[in-house]
Amino acid sequence: MTLDQLQSKFEEFKAKKLALDMSRGKPSAAQLDLSNGLLDTVSSTDYKTITDADTRNYGGLDGIPEAKELFKDFLEVSTVDEVVIGGNASLTIMHDIVSRGMTHGMCDSKQAWGKSKIKFICPSPGYDRHFSICQHFGIEMIPVSCTPGGPNMDEVEQLVANDESIKGIWIVPKYSNPTGLSCSDEVVDRLSAMKTAANDFRVFWDNAYAVHHLSEDKDKLKNILDTCKEAGNENRPFILCSTSKITFAGAGVSAVGGSVANMDWFKGHLFFSTIGPDKLNQVRHTRFFKNIEGLHEHMKKHAALLKPRFDKTLAILEQELGGTSLATWTKPKGGYFISFNVSNGCAKRVVALAAEAGVKLTGAGATYPHKNDPNDSNIRLAPSCPTIEEIEQAMQIVCLAVKIAAIETGVVKDLVHN
Ligand code: PLP
Repeated sequence: MTLDQLQSKFEEFKAKKLALDMSRGKPSAAQLDLSNGLLDTVSSTDYKTITDADTRNYGGLDGIPEAKELFKDFLEVSTVDEVVIGGNASLTIMHDIVSRGMTHGMCDSKQAWGKSKIKFICPSPGYDRHFSICQHFGIEMIPVSCTPGGPNMDEVEQLVANDESIKGIWIVPKYSNPTGLSCSDEVVDRLSAMKTAANDFRVFWDNAYAVHHLSEDKDKLKNILDTCKEAGNENRPFILCSTSKITFAGAGVSAVGGSVANMDWFKGHLFFSTIGPDKLNQVRHTRFFKNIEGLHEHMKKHAALLKPRFDKTLAILEQELGGTSLATWTKPKGGYFISFNVSNGCAKRVVALAAEAGVKLTGAGATYPHKNDPNDSNIRLAPSCPTIEEIEQAMQIVCLAVKIAAIETGVVKDLVHN
């Protein structure tokens, strides 16, 4: 097809005045409905914990016993002393750990991180909110590239071995945001055992998609706390999770796991910011799931809603762009995102064109520190919220935009041979 032909097709789409959104990695209303039963698990006469504690009152700083038990299994740590339950957002926990690191240092720091210039390694493309936390605290971000098995460990090892000011790395180990891919065993081992110039280096192991498989073909990762313990680095990982994309994104339960020293350090700081968490919501969640098997069963219902959306997105990409040199994309087994790489120099234009035709995409560059994708190539696709019909239309438009942008920028002359 020539540019003129593609553009007239594009005008037809524009005339439809569509309003489609492939940008938001949030659960659809149908997914939220799966957890409505949660709201009926407590009543005005039945709201106590298994130890008969009154959830309406203050107390229980690190979580009620049954929630700690459930999240011990979820986080795959060995004991309940290696877990602290948080509020509704794991992002708050991540923010607070970094904040307390800046003001007070970690349990093994020689001084507060904020006393000197510090840096974090940011595997990219990655999760924009991790990068925002760094930016908020003036932490320098060092992007490293990603391989299909996680961050490029040659780059990471070389950096951390030689620079004491590098204090952390962000990792979304399973079904990553945005690649949808998971860390290989080798990457887990190398992250756990690598020599770091900083003795208070931390791996922020953000396992936001730990149980979010799309089918029975699941990624299984090595246990980061175990491998760190074996390597003599038990204080290295903070393991994060939440039920945001399991129950209610705005009213779930989060948790952090790690060594007892890390958990004691975390609780020591938590003491100053709350007299106790929302225990009522912890009761709702533990009654709703009963145990980790119950939670896994629940995730199958999400998969039934999500898988057809991923399949449709991938099918249109294959149909429109498969076999061309114009784009590549990931084929995740779980999570919420597909990472879509268009020709260098085209991502911003594709996002702008899609917007003109009524399709909202995540801003180009959002998956890189300071929103700066050096290749202007990566776009994050989020298929969870739109309906299948909406995905079909939105992806037709996105693919058309990719073709137009490629011709406009001179990547290809026309699409006769593409
Ligand atoms: N971590 C990752 C990798 C995410 O993609 C998200 C949400 O998109 C979050 C954390 C946010 O989690 P929470 O709702 O628990 O703050």
